[in-house]
Amino acid sequence: MTPRIAVIGSGIAGLSTAWLLREQAEVTLFEAGARAGMGAYAVDYESRGSVTRIDIPLRIFCRGYYQNLLSLYQAIGVRTIESDHAGVFADEAGRILLHYGTLRAGRYSLAFLKPESLLSPRAWRLALQNQRFFRRVKQDLHCGDSFADISFAEYLDARQTAAEFVDTVLLPILSVTCTCDYASVLNYPADIMIDYLAGGIHDFGVMYAEGGVDNIVPRLLQGTRLETNAPIASVSPVGNTLRIEQRDGRSAEFDHVVVAAQAHQAAAMLAPFPEHAALLEAIPYESSELCIHTDGRVMPSSASPRSPVGYTLPAGSGRAQVSVDMTRAFSRFRSQDPVYQTWHPVVDIPAERELARASFTRPVVTRDSRQSVRSLQALQAAPGNRLWLCGAYMTERVPLLDAAVQSAMRVATGLGAQIPWSHPGGH
Ligand SMILES: Cc1cc2nc3c(=O)[nH]c(=O)nc-3n(C[C@H](O)[C@H](O)[C@H](O)COP(=O)(O)OP(=O)(O)OC[C@H]3O[C@@H](n4cnc5c(N)ncnc54)[C@H](O)[C@@H]3O)c2cc1C
Repeated sequence: MTPRIAVIGSGIAGLSTAWLLREQAEVTLFEAGARAGMGAYAVDYESRGSVTRIDIPLRIFCRGYYQNLLSLYQAIGVRTIESDHAGVFADEAGRILLHYGTLRAGRYSLAFLKPESLLSPRAWRLALQNQRFFRRVKQDLHCGDSFADISFAEYLDARQTAAEFVDTVLLPILSVTCTCDYASVLNYPADIMIDYLAGGIHDFGVMYAEGGVDNIVPRLLQGTRLETNAPIASVSPVGNTLRIEQRDGRSAEFDHVVVAAQAHQAAAMLAPFPEHAALLEAIPYESSELCIHTDGRVMPSSASPRSPVGYTLPAGSGRAQVSVDMTRAFSRFRSQDPVYQTWHPVVDIPAERELARASFTRPVVTRDSRQSVRSLQALQAAPGNRLWLCGAYMTERVPLLDAAVQSAMRVATGLGAQIPWSHPGGH
């Protein structure tokens, strides 16, 4: 008999799981929100006579580190496009500390200093420190687990990484990548950060999916029944099945349940599984805000054509303000007036310039959370298991899109699916 499987949560992890299981199971995908989670916040932007769709967040990726995501996109027929994410770094007074552009050379992305940084000794220092750091990180990638027991801060100290480079460039970039405070970046297990940094982001630059989430979500939903506005309140065992109950009291039974919500959301619905719930609660989260708007004051001003990503480093703050000028980063916005996506806005953006604002939570990885993930993996590897956990947090990696797909692959494999690309198990 075809097994009945419920997947709870339609972010990339839940969507990928449903897609991987579609041929061998009857899959129902339950989503708390009104739209599939991956596309929940997208907005339309009208300017100069054309309307474009803006994904929130942007969801960029690169070759190397994102093998699972790229294989998935290829399998569902989603093409990828190169994006320019060169950056300009400024202090809170708007003084430019470093401004670089990028050039494409085949698969590679090469950075160069923009004119106003060419005469700046600090910018040259930062550029050299950057080269030295990435060379070292790539060498250290091959040192096995020797960095698993130290924090990223300890690794930076051990490698005598220049504080100026760490504070001006590395932490601002990693705080937006991990959407968390500098302190949490520094607390990441060093091997996870090294794996990310050496994985391709420095060499290949970034890409995005053609057509964005509107192109991805319908493809991943093929063969799956999606129920939106269906927040699940609890999952509980009933004989040889699992019962899921919605907040409005409706319930249904399934042979297997895949919880693809974030760890704290999963914990809230798994009270009947106290061991799982306790491990899930041990995974820390941080919140942050994104604003989509047309207020150019978020970008440091610059004499040369400005690079698409603006980092403002407010003194004493534990995070940078990071803005992407969509018209410079993504070809489909080129003919429109500038529109920005700003993470952790510190500039007061007037309401009439705001298109959307969204709050997000994001897991951060610590040595303790890693232990919880290992214990959760062990629980779901037990024979006869029916309750599966899936999501970017369920890997020992930076919780990005690729980790989410990797966790979906692991769950789908556990449920007997064949992964239709050649490196199952992923990164
Ligand atoms: C600001 C920001 C920018 C980012 N940018 C990038 C980027 O450029 N590249 C990249 O690789 N990654 C990026 N990420 C990370 C990436 O978005 C996450 O790794 C990814 O979304 C995780 O997917 P997921 O499916 O595990 O979880 P989620 O996307 O959080 O999906 C969980 C889903 O479960 C649903 N849900 C929750 N509770 C219930 C319930 N009780 N019942 C039913 N449904 C429920 C939620 O509504 C949601 O749809 C970014 C993250 C943030 C916050």
